[in-house]
Amino acid sequence: MRMYDIIQQKRDGLVLSDEQIRYFVKGYTEGSVPDYQAAALLMAIYFHGMNDHETTTLTLAMAESGELIDLSSIKGITVDKHSTGGVGDKTSLIIAPCVAALGYKVAKMSGRGLGHTGGTVDKLESIPGYRTSLDKQEFFDNVNKIGIALVGQSGNLAPADKKIYALRDVTATVGSLPLIVSSIMSKKIAAGSQNILLDVKVGTGSFTPDLKDAVKLAEKMVEVGKLAGRNIAALITNMDVPLGKAIGNSMEIKEACEVLKNQGPCDLTEVCVELSTYMVWLCTNDSYEKCKSRVVESLKNGTAFNKFRDLVIQQGGDVRYIDNLDLFEKTAFSYDVLALEDGFIYSMNTTAIGEVSLMLGAGREKKEDSIDYSAGIYIHAKTGDKIKRGQVLATLYTNRKGILSEAENEYKKAVKISKSAPNEQKLIYQLVK
Ligand code: URA
Repeated sequence: MRMYDIIQQKRDGLVLSDEQIRYFVKGYTEGSVPDYQAAALLMAIYFHGMNDHETTTLTLAMAESGELIDLSSIKGITVDKHSTGGVGDKTSLIIAPCVAALGYKVAKMSGRGLGHTGGTVDKLESIPGYRTSLDKQEFFDNVNKIGIALVGQSGNLAPADKKIYALRDVTATVGSLPLIVSSIMSKKIAAGSQNILLDVKVGTGSFTPDLKDAVKLAEKMVEVGKLAGRNIAALITNMDVPLGKAIGNSMEIKEACEVLKNQGPCDLTEVCVELSTYMVWLCTNDSYEKCKSRVVESLKNGTAFNKFRDLVIQQGGDVRYIDNLDLFEKTAFSYDVLALEDGFIYSMNTTAIGEVSLMLGAGREKKEDSIDYSAGIYIHAKTGDKIKRGQVLATLYTNRKGILSEAENEYKKAVKISKSAPNEQKLIYQLVK
């Protein structure tokens, strides 16, 4: 088999065989296929797409390029969730303990933040002492003991995706449906859970601003997950506005604790309740109403919050920070962004707001960058809110004093104010199953 022929075939819009797709994935992961040939094939896929069978084969080949995590030593029903990413998206910190408190097993691997989106692992590492890297035995033991473990992605999980994603990033081929589907699903399949809920974000803070594209992505991922033998569904949720009020690592831990104590912002609570409900539904096949009432009860009766405390203790975190959120370190500088006019918040460019948090130090532009856990943004007024001139729109927290004026300008540019109220936005669009 020759890479040249595989590239030529896809260039001409033809379907690739399973053997050809596996040859490419194996060769590129091992290094026998050079970047220039892989890049040419990715561009051909970008233009001609792949059918469902090709996409599934690509996904499985990528999943099998590294370790396939075997969760069979975990007693009980395993469930996982994946979000396509957004700003202020701290749902994993809430739904994982919530679902574990109801008796389902969450053995979850999460990513780090990059660009305008944050990552669960960075947020957890803002809790002093919390270990996001456990060996496999400890990971399984913890899930068997307390029902939950939340760690960073194992280095050998879908290594083909790491290489292919890095190449897509520099060859303008990230935005290809089969490549996105195979990238996300290879990691989810390799992570081993039987039940998987996907949270597909739609809006200005996501990579699918258009609802039709988000639905198409969800449908494809669900289809591939089913073909791989998983019980899977996707919920399409809003990312036209940052989720909750806090953006930034320790600020998001604090807000997650508030939701777990049933005292958090309404939008974030609602999205977390819906996601947890569908995770329980996947595990039980009970009615939506029954699943939802169990989830709501776990937030009200403190069991979800206690499960989060158990998680922090089990993974070496200093639980005093969770019991007294004021212990988290504060930034040297804070600055209120004020409204310049009366009106309504008409829209928020959520990616641009994520980029402001990056400027403040809360994220990383390159993988090697370090993070300031205490930096971030607290949003006081969101899309649809009526505001008065001089009112505080958001407070910026940073240790980089010199960046404040630019950050303020960028925040103001991202928030559009109008005389009339915008149409009310949906938080949850639809379930794809
Ligand atoms: N997230 C991923 O892991 N891969 C993609 O291609 C897009 C988002």
